Amino acid sequence: MTPPEPNLLKSLDYAVLQQCMHCGMCLPTCPTYDATRRERHSPRGRVALMRDIADGTLPMSRAFGEEMYFCLGCLACQTACPAGVDYVELFETARTEVERQKMLDAPRRRFYRWLALRQLFMRPRLLHAAGRLLWLYQASGLERLARAIGLTRLLPRHLRDLEPKSPRIRPPFSMARITEIERPQADPRRRVGMLTGCMQDLMLSDVNRATVDVLLANGCEVHTPRWQPCCGSLHAHNGDLEAARELARRNIDAFDLNAMDAIVTNAGGCGSHLRRYGRLLADDPAYAERARAWDAKVRDVHEWLVEIDFRPPTAAPWETLSAGASRSHGCRPCAESAACEAVRVTYDDSCHLCHGQKVVSQPRQVLGAIPGVELVPLPEADWCCGSAGIYGITQPEQSAALLTRKLDHLATTGAAVLATANPGCQLQLAQGVAGRQDLAAIKLVHPVQLLAAAYAQERIANKT
Ligand code: SF4
Ligand code: SF4
Repeated sequence: MTPPEPNLLKSLDYAVLQQCMHCGMCLPTCPTYDATRRERHSPRGRVALMRDIADGTLPMSRAFGEEMYFCLGCLACQTACPAGVDYVELFETARTEVERQKMLDAPRRRFYRWLALRQLFMRPRLLHAAGRLLWLYQASGLERLARAIGLTRLLPRHLRDLEPKSPRIRPPFSMARITEIERPQADPRRRVGMLTGCMQDLMLSDVNRATVDVLLANGCEVHTPRWQPCCGSLHAHNGDLEAARELARRNIDAFDLNAMDAIVTNAGGCGSHLRRYGRLLADDPAYAERARAWDAKVRDVHEWLVEIDFRPPTAAPWETLSAGASRSHGCRPCAESAACEAVRVTYDDSCHLCHGQKVVSQPRQVLGAIPGVELVPLPEADWCCGSAGIYGITQPEQSAALLTRKLDHLATTGAAVLATANPGCQLQLAQGVAGRQDLAAIKLVHPVQLLAAAYAQERIANKT
């Protein structure tokens, strides 16, 4: 009889598990501990549970699996921890072990995991086709009709709850907006690869277009391979490391890495995972070295702009942004903005941009360099908005409570524009502000959209 495979938590470097010194510095930063005040819902408590399971003093259980899925994976604890506990490594390994031992297995869950993780997010063409179908349903009026005549009430309970949360699909997708190689007007000073993302591509390809425009305006030649695979963050965060590794290999293969100065991403959640390919593929002899080289080249777009000393624009973005917004951005132009000297803009950190990648000052530097922007702080900007991948689906109550907390803070800023740099956060916040009368006029943008609009306005001003 073959012995059972060792628990994956045991395969971790034990020093990593032992790093936690129980100081509790992470407790005040943890949204789930803050909500319940229970030790098991804290980073320290979760690390202790993982260590007990690795030691074999605690059996793997359904309760542990539920605990790991109650964690947002926001990584605020990682920023706070003075001992340098690599929480993301522990968290991903623990969820993978939960899945491997089928602790939360159920037919419906198995089906949705197969559909999302092994089909849609492994096959870009299939994801695009599904996106187009959903868009047709949304744009043709069928969705409104189904709701008006109560057809959605016939859906099973879990689908009925999910239906209003379905993402708004906005073609054209990146492939139709961005050509494979785009060159700046003058000789390029740098060459970069551009990642278009999955949900970013389906919901916010205008952010991808704005990113390319900003890179071109700063002397970068931009390479955007067609049919890019998902970065695999969804898989890694949901206990499917095998699929995450396969996607990492495909992404590395998609780019001529040696020819690029940087691989640029504009999505905080993707970026945090993309720069960990080296660790993910450390045991793969064919990819380990390339994966390490990949990690060294991945840059969040704000980080890259600051690194190359981006050119501050000379015009305010508001007219261009408002005109564009009414056509394709799907957010409402602010009636006052064109006439305003400066518009109040506030910035919400994506957890994985600030805690996962430590990119905190750069988005604020980008926003602060744009004429006509009065950057006002958002209280608790680095506190999770409740989006956290699929947390809104798996933990709807906790997700909604975090969203309300975020929106209450937003209301104190008096901002007309909210900037954030991750599609999940943007989707969550868009649903939140749309549901609140006091916030419904707020525009949601990615910081690079403001910068791209300012460059566009500058070009218009220079022509006249
Ligand atoms: S990842 Fe976030 S929710 Fe999970 S333990 Fe750390 S701070 Fe708490
Ligand atoms: S801050 Fe770090 S070392 Fe301290 S209790 Fe939290 S995880 Fe452990």
